[in-house]
Amino acid sequence: MNTKTPNIETDIPRLLAKHGIRPTKIRRAIAGLLFDGVDKHVSVDDVIDLARDQNIKTSVASVYNTLNQFASAGLLHRVMVEQGRAFFDTNLSEHHHFYLEDEERLEDIPADNINITGLPELPKGRRIKSVNVTIRLKDN
Ligand SMILES: [Zn+2]
Repeated sequence: MNTKTPNIETDIPRLLAKHGIRPTKIRRAIAGLLFDGVDKHVSVDDVIDLARDQNIKTSVASVYNTLNQFASAGLLHRVMVEQGRAFFDTNLSEHHHFYLEDEERLEDIPADNINITGLPELPKGRRIKSVNVTIRLKDN
Protein backbone atom coordinates (compact mmCIF):
# COMPACT_ATOMS: atom_id res chain seq x y z
CA MET A 1 0.00 0.00 0.00
CA ASN A 2 1.26 3.48 -0.71
CA THR A 3 1.53 6.13 1.97
CA LYS A 4 -1.47 8.17 0.88
CA THR A 5 -4.42 7.83 3.22
CA PRO A 6 -6.86 5.36 1.67
CA ASN A 7 -10.45 6.35 1.04
CA ILE A 8 -12.60 4.07 3.21
CA GLU A 9 -15.51 4.13 0.73
CA THR A 10 -13.52 3.13 -2.35
CA ASP A 11 -9.95 2.06 -1.59
CA ILE A 12 -10.78 -0.27 1.30
CA PRO A 13 -13.41 -2.39 -0.53
CA ARG A 14 -11.06 -2.54 -3.54
CA LEU A 15 -8.14 -3.64 -1.34
CA LEU A 16 -10.22 -6.39 0.27
CA ALA A 17 -11.61 -7.60 -3.04
CA LYS A 18 -8.11 -7.67 -4.55
CA HIS A 19 -7.11 -10.10 -1.77
CA GLY A 20 -10.19 -12.28 -2.23
CA ILE A 21 -11.96 -11.04 0.89
CA ARG A 22 -15.66 -10.24 0.68
CA PRO A 23 -15.93 -6.65 1.94
CA THR A 24 -18.57 -7.07 4.65
CA LYS A 25 -19.39 -4.09 6.85
CA ILE A 26 -17.26 -5.28 9.79
CA ARG A 27 -14.29 -6.20 7.56
CA ARG A 28 -14.44 -2.78 5.90
CA ALA A 29 -14.59 -1.10 9.30
CA ILE A 30 -11.62 -3.06 10.70
CA ALA A 31 -9.63 -2.55 7.50
CA GLY A 32 -10.35 1.18 7.77
CA LEU A 33 -8.81 1.20 11.27
CA LEU A 34 -5.72 -0.70 10.13
CA PHE A 35 -4.93 0.55 6.64
CA ASP A 36 -4.88 4.27 7.23
CA GLY A 37 -1.47 4.77 5.65
CA VAL A 38 0.44 4.54 8.96
CA ASP A 39 2.19 1.24 9.72
CA LYS A 40 1.12 -0.33 12.99
CA HIS A 41 1.35 -3.47 15.11
CA VAL A 42 -1.92 -4.40 16.76
CA SER A 43 -3.24 -7.18 18.98
CA VAL A 44 -6.86 -8.34 18.95
CA ASP A 45 -7.39 -6.23 22.11
CA ASP A 46 -5.90 -3.15 20.43
CA VAL A 47 -8.32 -3.47 17.51
CA ILE A 48 -11.27 -3.91 19.88
CA ASP A 49 -10.21 -0.69 21.64
CA LEU A 50 -9.78 1.16 18.32
CA ALA A 51 -13.20 -0.04 17.18
CA ARG A 52 -14.82 1.03 20.46
CA ASP A 53 -13.24 4.50 20.11
CA GLN A 54 -14.89 4.81 16.67
CA ASN A 55 -18.24 3.44 17.91
CA ILE A 56 -17.86 0.36 15.70
CA LYS A 57 -19.84 -2.51 17.20
CA THR A 58 -17.90 -5.77 17.10
CA SER A 59 -16.90 -8.74 19.24
CA VAL A 60 -13.67 -10.46 20.24
CA ALA A 61 -14.48 -13.43 17.98
CA SER A 62 -15.26 -11.20 15.03
CA VAL A 63 -12.04 -9.17 15.39
CA TYR A 64 -9.99 -12.33 15.93
CA ASN A 65 -11.44 -13.99 12.82
CA THR A 66 -11.09 -10.87 10.69
CA LEU A 67 -7.43 -10.30 11.62
CA ASN A 68 -6.60 -13.94 10.89
CA GLN A 69 -8.43 -13.76 7.54
CA PHE A 70 -6.47 -10.62 6.64
CA ALA A 71 -3.22 -12.36 7.62
CA SER A 72 -4.04 -15.48 5.61
CA ALA A 73 -4.85 -13.30 2.61
CA GLY A 74 -1.50 -11.51 2.88
CA LEU A 75 -2.85 -8.14 4.04
CA LEU A 76 -1.13 -8.41 7.44
CA HIS A 77 1.85 -10.24 8.86
CA ARG A 78 1.32 -12.27 12.01
CA VAL A 79 4.10 -11.78 14.58
CA MET A 80 4.07 -14.31 17.43
CA VAL A 81 5.93 -12.95 20.44
CA GLU A 82 5.08 -15.85 22.71
CA GLN A 83 2.59 -18.68 22.98
CA GLY A 84 -0.88 -17.19 22.66
CA ARG A 85 0.36 -13.63 22.11
CA ALA A 86 0.22 -12.47 18.50
CA PHE A 87 0.48 -9.09 16.89
CA PHE A 88 -0.64 -8.20 13.40
CA ASP A 89 1.69 -5.99 11.40
CA THR A 90 0.56 -3.74 8.54
CA ASN A 91 4.19 -3.30 7.41
CA LEU A 92 4.57 -6.09 4.86
CA SER A 93 8.16 -5.31 3.91
CA GLU A 94 10.99 -7.52 5.17
CA HIS A 95 11.98 -6.31 8.66
CA HIS A 96 12.69 -7.38 12.23
CA HIS A 97 11.36 -6.35 15.63
CA PHE A 98 12.21 -5.26 19.10
CA TYR A 99 9.60 -6.58 21.54
CA LEU A 100 9.34 -4.29 24.56
CA GLU A 101 8.03 -6.81 27.07
CA ASP A 102 7.09 -4.32 29.79
CA GLU A 103 5.00 -2.29 27.35
CA GLU A 104 3.84 -5.31 25.32
CA ARG A 105 4.75 -3.41 22.18
CA LEU A 106 6.68 -4.10 18.97
CA GLU A 107 9.01 -1.68 17.23
CA ASP A 108 10.35 -2.19 13.73
CA ILE A 109 14.01 -2.83 13.00
CA PRO A 110 14.88 -2.21 9.33
CA ALA A 111 15.97 -5.43 7.60
CA ASP A 112 19.42 -4.07 6.76
CA ASN A 113 20.16 -3.22 10.42
CA ILE A 114 20.69 -6.90 11.18
CA ASN A 115 23.25 -9.12 9.47
CA ILE A 116 22.26 -12.75 9.57
CA THR A 117 25.17 -15.16 9.16
CA GLY A 118 25.95 -18.70 10.27
CA LEU A 119 22.61 -20.18 9.34
CA PRO A 120 22.59 -24.00 9.39
CA GLU A 121 22.57 -26.11 6.24
CA LEU A 122 19.00 -26.38 5.02
CA PRO A 123 17.15 -29.67 4.74
CA LYS A 124 17.25 -31.01 1.18
CA GLY A 125 14.64 -29.58 -1.16
CA ARG A 126 13.95 -26.56 1.07
CA ARG A 127 14.70 -22.91 0.68
CA ILE A 128 14.46 -20.03 3.15
CA LYS A 129 11.23 -18.09 2.79
CA SER A 130 12.15 -15.52 5.44
CA VAL A 131 14.14 -15.05 8.63
CA ASN A 132 12.42 -12.91 11.22
CA VAL A 133 14.33 -11.77 14.28
CA THR A 134 12.52 -10.61 17.41
CA ILE A 135 14.78 -9.10 20.07
CA ARG A 136 13.02 -9.11 23.42
CA LEU A 137 13.76 -6.15 25.68
CA LYS A 138 13.18 -5.60 29.40
CA ASP A 139 13.27 -2.26 31.20
CA ASN A 140 16.39 -1.70 33.31
ZN1 LIG B 1 6.76 -4.58 12.14
